[in-house]
Amino acid sequence: AARNPNQPEFLQAVTEVIDSLWPFIARTPRYAGQGLLERLVEPDRVVIFRVSWVNDEGKVQVNRGFRIQHSMAIGPYKGGIRFHPSVNLSVLKFLAFEQTFKNALTTLPMGGGKGGSDFDPKGKSTGEIMRFCQAFVTELFRHVGSDTDVPAGDIGVGGREIGYMVGMTKKLTNRADCIFTGKGLSFGGSLIRPEATGYGTVYFAEEMLSERKNSLQGMTVSVSGSGNVAQYAVEKALMLGAKVVTVSDSSGFTHEKLAILQDIKNVKYGRVKDYATKVGAQFLEGRTPWSIPADVALPCATQNELDVNDAKMLIKNGVVCVAEGANMPSTIEAAKAFESAGVLYAPGKASNAGGVATSGLEMSQNAARLSWPRHEVDQRLHEIMRGIHKSCVEYGRRPDGSISYIDGANIAGFVKVADAMVAQGVV
Ligand code: NDP
Repeated sequence: AARNPNQPEFLQAVTEVIDSLWPFIARTPRYAGQGLLERLVEPDRVVIFRVSWVNDEGKVQVNRGFRIQHSMAIGPYKGGIRFHPSVNLSVLKFLAFEQTFKNALTTLPMGGGKGGSDFDPKGKSTGEIMRFCQAFVTELFRHVGSDTDVPAGDIGVGGREIGYMVGMTKKLTNRADCIFTGKGLSFGGSLIRPEATGYGTVYFAEEMLSERKNSLQGMTVSVSGSGNVAQYAVEKALMLGAKVVTVSDSSGFTHEKLAILQDIKNVKYGRVKDYATKVGAQFLEGRTPWSIPADVALPCATQNELDVNDAKMLIKNGVVCVAEGANMPSTIEAAKAFESAGVLYAPGKASNAGGVATSGLEMSQNAARLSWPRHEVDQRLHEIMRGIHKSCVEYGRRPDGSISYIDGANIAGFVKVADAMVAQGVV
C-alpha cells in the first residue's frame, strides 16, 4: 500500500488475488521463493501522456492518456482502452493486473495491459470524438504494435472509436497490421467480437448452473449497464429462454422489455431513460437494479457497482448465480457474501473473458489473412468459456466439494503466468 498511494482499486484487485494465491503457494513449493507475486504486482511499464485536442468551439482541451503494459510473459500486451472521467492510474492498474490473469485463463498467447483517458465522451459531437481519438493515438502508436501491445475497446470505446484510432495509426505507421482488435468488419474485424463478452458471460453462467443440474431456461435475470457487454448478455440470456428484468446506466435503471434499447444506445447515443420513455417502462432515477428479485444477476456496468448491501438484498431475494460481465463490479465484501451464502459467484476475470478471447481470435484471423464464419467464432468462444469454467472447477474445488470460482480463476490464471515467468528467468 505504501508503494501505491491513492490506488484503492488496484489494491482491492491485488488483495483479492493474493488472498487466493498465498495459501496455494504455501502448499505448492515450486512457486515459492521466486519473487513471482512481487513481480506480478509491478507492471512492466506505465506510460502517461498529454492528449491535446480542439473542441467544436475552437477551444484547446487537455486530457491525460495512459497505457499500462502489465505483463508480456505469455504474449503481447492485450487489453482495452477506456474513455471515462473516472479513469486514473489506480483504475487502469487494477484493470491491467486483472487482464493478465484473465488472458492466461483463455489459454491464448496474450499478455496483459490496459489503457485509456479521463476524456468524457458523453455529449461530444462525432467530430470531437474523432479528433480526440486521433490525438490520443498520435502518442499511443509508438508504444503499441501487433507483436508488442494490441489494445481493444472498453467503457466509452466501441467500434466507432476503434475505427478512428485504427485510421490515424495507419496514417502514422504506413502499416496495416493488427494493432487494435474490435475493428469493423470491412477492415479486419471478427464476426462475434461485439457480442463476445456478453455472450461469453452468459455461456459461463450456463456452465455454472449446470454444476447444479440447472439451466437459464425460465430463470429471471437482472442485468446492470446498457452498453456493449450488457446488451449482448441480455440478447444471449433471452436466446437461452431466460426472462431479463432490468437494464441500467449511471443515472438509474428500468425493466428491460425490447431491443429498441440497442437503437437508442448504439445509433442515437441516448440514455436508458429515453428507452424507458419510449417503451413506456418505469425508470428509477439514481438507483441500481439489485433490489429487483432475480435468480441470476449479471453486473455488466463498472467496478464496485454492487456492494455488500446489494449482495445481501440479492441473496435475500433468492439469487442462485452471479456472473460478472464487468470488471470487479462486486466489492470484496459483496463477493465474500455471495460465496458464504452458497451462491454460484464468478469473478469477471473468468466470466467476462470471452471478449478478449475473441479479440485473440481476431488476431489469429488477421495473421492468417482470412476471416472465419460467425458460427465458427461463436463455437470457439463457447469452447473457450467451457474451458475456463473447467479450469476454475479444477483449481477452485474445496474439500467439501463446493467451488470457489474466485480461487479457481486466480489460481488457474496464476499457474499459467507463473510457469511462463519461471521458464524465462528473472527479468
Ligand atoms: P460501455 O461503455 O459500452 O457501457 C458501459 C455501461 O456501464 C453503460 O451503461 C454505462 O452507463 C455504465 N457505467 C459506466 N460507468 C459507470 C459508473 N461509474 N456508474 C454506473 N454505471 C456506469 O462499456 P462496456 O459494456 O464495454 O463495458 C462494461 C464493463 O465490462 C466494464 O467493466 C468493462 O471493463 C467490462 N468489460 C468489457 C469488455 C468488452 O469487450 N467491451 C470485455 C471485458 C470486460 P453510462 O452510459 O451512464 O455511463
